[in-house]
Amino acid sequence: MKIVYLAGMGRSGSTIIGKVLSQLKDFFYIGEMKQVWKYGISKNTLCGCGLNFSDCPIWSSVISRAFGIRAKEIAQKMIYMQRNTLRERHAPIIRFLNNPMKFIDKRISQEYRWAINRLYQEIARVTGANIIVDSTKTATYGLLIKNILDCPVYVLHIVRDPGAVAYSWKRSKNHNISGIKVAMRRFSTIKTVLRWGIRNWSVEQALRPFVDGFMLVRYEDFVNNPKKLVRAILKFVHEDSDLSFIHNHKVSLKETHSVWGNPGRLLHGDIKIKLDNEWKISQSNVQRIIIKVLLCIYLYRYSYL
Ligand SMILES: [Zn+2]
Repeated sequence: MKIVYLAGMGRSGSTIIGKVLSQLKDFFYIGEMKQVWKYGISKNTLCGCGLNFSDCPIWSSVISRAFGIRAKEIAQKMIYMQRNTLRERHAPIIRFLNNPMKFIDKRISQEYRWAINRLYQEIARVTGANIIVDSTKTATYGLLIKNILDCPVYVLHIVRDPGAVAYSWKRSKNHNISGIKVAMRRFSTIKTVLRWGIRNWSVEQALRPFVDGFMLVRYEDFVNNPKKLVRAILKFVHEDSDLSFIHNHKVSLKETHSVWGNPGRLLHGDIKIKLDNEWKISQSNVQRIIIKVLLCIYLYRYSYL
């Protein structure tokens, strides 16, 4: 088993990239696996296939094989333990420790370690996939699974122009939780810009040194030439697959079984991949200056200047 871990700031294109990767031979996109305990097992929200988590044939099989009748009880413990293991705020600490893995070891209980191992092992068994694509995105969850799972972890660090990301976080979007529309969190430009900077710094500084491979993926490059970028990802993880489902900017997507994430994970069929440039029209000069001043180093680093 190999893990392809999608890291970076939310609303940077990880959902569509995960769904495209899920079409590849031996790949399986699981969505934001950190949330499986809360939104999958406990709240029974929709799987990417459109069925409730407990009705999805993939997840019902994975969870019953991994945890049997104790699944709900274990999920409650995992939600509690997750709050006390590694949090995003630990990323700057990890960056400056001499032995970060020892620090992480101390924060993981045996039970948490056991449950994570059981979960990913059964995902691989039930799906028959060799490459599991996890889009949890935070640096710290990437470190946790690298520490716990006995398999290589390859990181795709996905970045997108912070102007587009800030615009997306200001728009209203809804999650569907047990048939009820629940508004997703919204953030001001300044808050998104700060989160964008911290998240990308954490991924580069705290996660990158400990994983088995690290590849920067600009969302705009993916949109510009999806096939070229997917081919590069395949090479990066030492795999090969048929890419005939990608026709220039159109992809033919079969349903996926992602747990939690952007509502776009529910879409399948023929999908056109295109850049949404609405943000450029609505962005004010003040917002443009805030982004340029606060993120100038990263804008240069990721070729957004
Ligand atoms: Zn499903």
